[in-house]
Amino acid sequence: MPVEKLQFQAETKRLLDLVVNSIYTNKEIFLRELISNASDALDKLRIESLTNTDIASDMEPEIFIAPDAKAKTITISDNGIGMTRDEVIANIGTIAKSGTKDFLDKLRESTAAAAQELIGQFGVGFYSAFIVAEKVELVTRKVGTASAVKWISDGAGEYELEEGDKDSCGTTITLHLKPEFCGEGVEYDFTDVYELERLIKKYSDFVRYPIKMEFEVSGSSEDTPSLEIRTVNSMKPLWTRPKSDITREEYDEFFKQQMHEWEPPQEIFHVKAEGTTEYTALLCIPKHAAPNLYYTDYDAGLQLYSRHVFIMDKCKDFLPDWLRFVKGLVDSPDLPLNISRELLQQSMGVKVIGKALEKNILKQLGKMLRDDRDRYEEFWLEYGKSLKIGVYNAMFDTKTQDALKDLLLFRTSRDGKFSTLAEYVERMPESQTKIFCATGKDAAAIERLPQMELIRERGLEVIYLTDAVDELATNILRTYADKEFQSITRDDFELDDAESQKVKAEVDEIAKTREDLLRDVKDAIGDAVKEVRLTSRLKSGAVCLATTEGPSLIMEKTFASMNNPMFKATLILELNPNHALFSKLERLHAAGKDTPAFRDMCTTLYALALLTEGVMPENPADLVNKVTDLLTK
Ligand code: ADP
Repeated sequence: MPVEKLQFQAETKRLLDLVVNSIYTNKEIFLRELISNASDALDKLRIESLTNTDIASDMEPEIFIAPDAKAKTITISDNGIGMTRDEVIANIGTIAKSGTKDFLDKLRESTAAAAQELIGQFGVGFYSAFIVAEKVELVTRKVGTASAVKWISDGAGEYELEEGDKDSCGTTITLHLKPEFCGEGVEYDFTDVYELERLIKKYSDFVRYPIKMEFEVSGSSEDTPSLEIRTVNSMKPLWTRPKSDITREEYDEFFKQQMHEWEPPQEIFHVKAEGTTEYTALLCIPKHAAPNLYYTDYDAGLQLYSRHVFIMDKCKDFLPDWLRFVKGLVDSPDLPLNISRELLQQSMGVKVIGKALEKNILKQLGKMLRDDRDRYEEFWLEYGKSLKIGVYNAMFDTKTQDALKDLLLFRTSRDGKFSTLAEYVERMPESQTKIFCATGKDAAAIERLPQMELIRERGLEVIYLTDAVDELATNILRTYADKEFQSITRDDFELDDAESQKVKAEVDEIAKTREDLLRDVKDAIGDAVKEVRLTSRLKSGAVCLATTEGPSLIMEKTFASMNNPMFKATLILELNPNHALFSKLERLHAAGKDTPAFRDMCTTLYALALLTEGVMPENPADLVNKVTDLLTK
């Protein structure tokens, strides 16, 4: 195979620049990242050999780290699964995660400190090699294939591929260190075995395969030192130790190593159960949501162990999809060692363990909400959406819904702060029988709704539904504490106080005598609205839109923008009979329902009602012309 020069995929290149040039305070983490890739490759080989007897390997799995002070290199080798040429291009030349673009956009807008945190969340893995290396060589041979491939890059945008030389399967990565990372007198000498030993113990102690290095036997002669190979990591599974013996730092390090986490997790769950189903679970909620958490390519799931032996990664059958942000592992002696994914799905043990874990997580979240509101709100900002998706997904599971609804937070019109539903209900005045809510793109858009004016005047509070999933979730719940959710933009929204009821009765009286007018306005607008009617819910506003059964207009638009036209709002145009525009409409109507002046007025009112909801009318140019005419008259 001739040497080929290939370009990194554009986004990979940008990310690489950022990794290498961003202010990394922690230069050491490259070793952890590469060791954890090696450990993954060993896992993959083990799993493959369970089902494919052809590749049963007699080699003991291991990771070998070999520094070379003279050559200024470190070599990290594994006898894992290896990669084919195509896999090298796909895995090392590309970062095909969705959300990469969003991530890079966010990164560009953030400050240096925030940028570092963001890079951490993204997990740059292999590319961290370029933090310390000016050139990286990777030689890999996929199990079951005869040839190896060599990948070389200086991280500057191009990489070379050529035929490699390797006797057996696995991957060897050689880092040609930058001068500041080797030799005497530098802050970090990554060619020093003892320095590397310290790093491995610190970051990779729980890796479940031996990480070996060659050391001089102490006391051997300086000229011809005897050498010995030692395993540096303890490999002892943390979760088998008693909880009381484990420090928070040990847990944090464990999740960083095992779950490719960058920062200490926000919450940790260490659950041991005995009885009919025996298991230990060690789970965490990462501090930040993965950028692609809500994309279909997000690979959720827990690691599965049986009697401390790793069986399977990304096992999705334990936790429901809405808990996809939880990471960790389950170790259970009740599960057979070479269980297939299909069998696992049907396994009662998995179902029982999964349900128990879900209950445990919900309980711990409830406790956090009660005992540490600030921490819960931090959690909510990252994962609140998942809980609301949970409400929606648990459509037929009232138990889960019941647990989830007490964990929901919404911002409200009271002070824009988060409120639980219980807190909202607690504050409701006696005369209010329903939970008022409104859907909008954000709080400001809801505050601008003309319907909000009376709400404010009466000192009432509205829950803001600003996330696409909010309206779906409240529709599924229907009630909280026996109080219905009532959208203030729904046609059946009424205020119960005496003053509001009085105004409503007056408006109903006027409406009786304006049936012709309302019918003709509807005719002039056409099928865009189902009905035109008078309203008592506006004060200084002239028009607004209401919806009947079904989604709100904003929800329709939100879902349409996601290419999901499933939701269609049924609109009602509402007119304020106490507004000067209404008198004008009546005058124009009296002059003739087919006159252009009346018809233009009707369509303009509809367009204005759309605009107040923040929705663009279908023909904005037409509206502009009409308003320009009016202004010049
Ligand atoms: P991540 O590990 O988060 O997927 P990386 O950038 O670290 O991201 O690695 C990208 C991919 O390259 C891995 O998912 C894996 O498929 C492949 N890879 C990296 N290192 C090795 C290795 N030592 N052996 C086999 N495959 C590897």
